[in-house]
Amino acid sequence: MSRSAPTPRDGFVQVRGAREHNLKNVDVNLPRGALVVFTGVSGSGKSSLAFGTLYAEAQRRYLDSVSPYARRLFNQLGTPDVDRIDGLPPAVALQQGRGVTSARSTVGSLTTLNNVLRLLYSRAGDYPGGQGIIYAEGFSPNTPEGACPECHGLGRVFDVTEASMVPDPSLTIRERAIAAWPTAWGGQNQRDILVTLGYDVDTPWRDLPQRDRDWILFTDEQPQVPVYPGFTPEETRRALKRRAEPSYTGTFTSARRHVLHTFATSGSESMKRRAASFMVIRECPVCHGKRLTREALGVTFAGLDIADFSRLPLSRAAELLAPAARGDTDRLDGRPGGPPRPQEEALALTRLAGDLCARIEVLGRLGLGYLTLERGTPTLSPGELQRLRLATQLYSNLFGVVYVLDEPSAGLHPADTEALLGALDDLKAGGNSLFVVEHDLAVIRHADWIVDVGPAAGQGGGEVLYSGPPAGLRDVAASQTARHLFAPPTPPRPAPRDPQGWLEVQGVTRNNLRGLDARLPLGVLTAVTGVSGSGKSSLITQALGDLLGAHLGLTPPAPEGGTDPADLLSADDAPAPTGGTLGGDVARVKRLVQVTQSPIGRTPRSNLATYTGLFDHVRSLFAATPLARRRHYRPGRFSFNVRGGRCEHCQGEGWVMVELLFLPSVYAPCPVCHGARFNDSTLEVKWADLNIAQVLDLTVDAAADVFAHEPPIARALSTLQEVGLGYLRLGQPATELSGGEAQRVKLASELQKATRGHTVYLLDEPTTGLHPSDVERLHAQLRRLVDAGHTVMLVEHDLGLIAAADWVIDLGPGAGEDGGLIVAQGTPEQVARASGSRTAPYLRRELD
Ligand code: ADP
Ligand code: ADP
Ligand code: ZN
Ligand code: ZN
Repeated sequence: MSRSAPTPRDGFVQVRGAREHNLKNVDVNLPRGALVVFTGVSGSGKSSLAFGTLYAEAQRRYLDSVSPYARRLFNQLGTPDVDRIDGLPPAVALQQGRGVTSARSTVGSLTTLNNVLRLLYSRAGDYPGGQGIIYAEGFSPNTPEGACPECHGLGRVFDVTEASMVPDPSLTIRERAIAAWPTAWGGQNQRDILVTLGYDVDTPWRDLPQRDRDWILFTDEQPQVPVYPGFTPEETRRALKRRAEPSYTGTFTSARRHVLHTFATSGSESMKRRAASFMVIRECPVCHGKRLTREALGVTFAGLDIADFSRLPLSRAAELLAPAARGDTDRLDGRPGGPPRPQEEALALTRLAGDLCARIEVLGRLGLGYLTLERGTPTLSPGELQRLRLATQLYSNLFGVVYVLDEPSAGLHPADTEALLGALDDLKAGGNSLFVVEHDLAVIRHADWIVDVGPAAGQGGGEVLYSGPPAGLRDVAASQTARHLFAPPTPPRPAPRDPQGWLEVQGVTRNNLRGLDARLPLGVLTAVTGVSGSGKSSLITQALGDLLGAHLGLTPPAPEGGTDPADLLSADDAPAPTGGTLGGDVARVKRLVQVTQSPIGRTPRSNLATYTGLFDHVRSLFAATPLARRRHYRPGRFSFNVRGGRCEHCQGEGWVMVELLFLPSVYAPCPVCHGARFNDSTLEVKWADLNIAQVLDLTVDAAADVFAHEPPIARALSTLQEVGLGYLRLGQPATELSGGEAQRVKLASELQKATRGHTVYLLDEPTTGLHPSDVERLHAQLRRLVDAGHTVMLVEHDLGLIAAADWVIDLGPGAGEDGGLIVAQGTPEQVARASGSRTAPYLRRELD
């Protein structure tokens, strides 16, 4: 570990009078060219200083320099509340979770590796004899040149099948066997037409000849025939014979034609939804899901087309590229003993392969070598996503910028964290500054400089307790960080409890799990460990969640979003299937609660108060005040989601969107209500001297005082405090919460529910975003669940929490294809002594 003390040569960033959020007029000097780590309990003001002040100011200056229009906007948005900042370099922020990634973005597109790979296939791929060269765009499914013409580059197509349109083949056509036809008159019309056409509508569907069934369901013909509604088949036949005047002429439409037409053209969401329910999504029959034209897929490198290449783990891809990168451009698997390449092509190949290898090497060092280029970014964890962005930065060779990072260690095994620190050192050695918000003690110890913010959260924090080299923090009595950094308290470590039974999963297949058998203890706290990508979430949140959910008869949540065909077809988060069986003492489990880091809502309309249900009680309190009763205001008046009490200009959002040319659009405060979200007459109603907007602006801690004597509200607030969220505001939009905060909000709302019957709680790294002293509180909460007889299973990296678990299951040995096995299991002591486990040495140190 090389650590150079910051020198005056690099100079300092000087902050004077910072007052953003809870910051108390902070003055602080931060060295440039150094790793500066911001520490402090959650809500103390670290992000307000690093992101809200320093990054926001760098951003403002940058926009200022490029666009006068942006300047005007920023005046509207408010610049960070700070007197002055000197010596601030341009900044790049790598923040977690909050930036949304588009559904079609992949590892390859985010890292821009795809661009290089496409060039390589274009310039140096092996073309079938006689085929002309394809330009790089021709290898992208998102261009007209490259997209498979059948599925338009989506890889999947909509289709209907006999089973999807005729769910119950024991019915006759008259009994509405063809469920996909319209329900009311339209369906009756089609049945009458079939009678005219001579089809048998009174025989069970499954007994009709296949030829008839296929025609009725799939034909593109649209014959027009006379219709005699209400006639029996026999009467119809006679009427046709004597050419009786029909009621009208009807047009036949096959069920498939009807479904696809309705789905493509109907203006009604509910009609679309109904049509969608008769459709299946299947792999495109032309490109087989590879999304590209036949021509593009004919070009290979190392014997693989570009789609197959993109499905390799990056580490394997680098192995295939390595010979070419070394200049060995002829002996590729694809052309054994073939003619040597023209020199120009060989040079291009060496350069492009070399570039790819070097970039993949950086990703590998950050522990991401198990990812594939085609992996959709929505399926990555926030930590993985941040490290991907970090790797991209490492390779972009910027100089003299400050990188502002938010908990880069999230999701990292201690072994992975060491690699991360190496990468940060490289950025620093490249002449950059690093401002990092972190809780992980290994990262904090690696800092050149610590800025400790505190002492507590919200109003109790906002001061810089210490700014200087790590050693000096030792003497700062008020610092929670110092306590954990220098005299790690040994938390009471109760003797591990004995399991009260076992869940047994067998033959689990999911991602990198290939037929795994595992025994998972009931009635205790289990930590599931292993390097990033070893299969922890695949086993716990994905496979066990599915198997247990299916056992309890829970249906998986329907995917969010509308019925836009492109969205449905390209939804990359379509879950992979789980294989395997669940046995053992599964009958004892009555309930499953999964608490993940996925956002609690995708619109700013959902917030802490609405999500936890406490806002319902608050609105009732407001409706019961004398003024509200006189005006006949019902609780709904105090909701910003319905008409009545809300500001109609912004429809209760408090913000309006402003479109910017060339820049991402931004939100600005509503010019009518100035962000209050309610109209003036609603705001006249007060409870304890506060109007409803002011209540939403309270932090959980402040609200706990205000509502101390309102039991249902007080209870909800105290559970939020217990999971370390006392610093959040009640109206904080769900979209502003980090993954870890969202998870703790969900945990808190589960904790306040009265739980009867044995519940299994599955959590995904609940310590993300928590200071070690908050981790202690979380641990106490989880213990209480186990005390009450429930089962808790965590995917976890925090060694303190792992050491205090009753049972540990360590996955590995490596990541991706090199993982997916159980390498050790037992009590923490047993796992610490296991050989072949990468967790064991760290756990041993923790337990000593
Ligand atoms: P940390 O990064 O240390 O967890 P933050 O800087 O996020 O802390 O929060 C410090 C305080 O500022 C908290 O009381 C928090 O509720 C408040 N705060 C954070 N973001 C906002 C915001 N957008 N508007 C108002 N208050 C905020
Ligand atoms: P961990 O939780 O230990 O970090 P994961 O279970 O997330 O590991 O990942 C194990 C393997 O499965 C990795 O190779 C990862 O890329 C892959 N994987 C995980 N989730 C998905 C997914 N939703 N789609 C495709 N592959 C996935
Ligand atoms: Zn296709
Ligand atoms: Zn408004």
